[in-house]
Amino acid sequence: MTNIILLGPPGAGKGTQAKRLEEARGMVQLSTGDMLKEAIAKGTDLGKRVEGIMARGELVTDEIVIGLIEAKMNDGAQGGFIFDGFPRTLKQADALGDLLSRTGQTLDSVIEMQVDDAALVARVTGRFTCGNCGAVYHDVTYPTKVQGVCDVCGSTNMKRRADDNEETLKTRLMEYYKKTSPLIGYYYAKGRLSAVDGLAEVDAVAEAIAKVLDKP
Ligand code: ADP
Ligand code: AMP
Repeated sequence: MTNIILLGPPGAGKGTQAKRLEEARGMVQLSTGDMLKEAIAKGTDLGKRVEGIMARGELVTDEIVIGLIEAKMNDGAQGGFIFDGFPRTLKQADALGDLLSRTGQTLDSVIEMQVDDAALVARVTGRFTCGNCGAVYHDVTYPTKVQGVCDVCGSTNMKRRADDNEETLKTRLMEYYKKTSPLIGYYYAKGRLSAVDGLAEVDAVAEAIAKVLDKP
């Protein structure tokens, strides 16, 4: 069982690679962003609390996301967990360490997906996903084979995120640099960090990640 973190700014390709790893290795993606978006879509109390914060591109509180992750980790995962978009603060990173050790698990790799900031605007403004299975696409770099139809499940329910605009991306990037990027040093010091070139093509990024995971 392998537990990994995909670390990188919004648009780095974390979700895209997490889906690949689920398919290829039977791992389980834990995306706090997806969990929060689901709460908003369902109109739960949690969803109502976080909606405005997420629309502005700010981070929700540590307590909320730690609680979400804890609940999912209780379910276990045969192939291991892919933490996507979590942790995003040092407090979350410490909490994840505690959760893993409490459940007798280890953190095997933290993969930093390196991308130029200049590429991120195009990445997020062109992003759309399948509302049925969550597959991630891009208008230019990763379109569906048949326009408007999901390659994976055939659904025509394609969605765009309300926060995927240039203005909100500025806040999301600022949050990343102020609160999340210190995790790069944190995990380097713990001897867990590897970096991959997130600007390469999707298949090449997947190969680079596989190399890290298969390293003896
Ligand atoms: P994140 O989860 O890190 O926010 P996504 O996986 O959702 O990022 O990717 C953001 C956008 O960039 C999506 O539209 C996706 O299709 C596209 N994308 C992801 N990886 C690549 C890549 N290696 N090359 C080109 N486009 C990519
Ligand atoms: P994402 O789908 O990862 O881009 O996340 C979308 C939004 O959800 C972020 O802009 C934050 O508002 C919120 N969010 C997701 N994960 C976290 C987290 N670990 N900590 C705080 N806020 C989060």
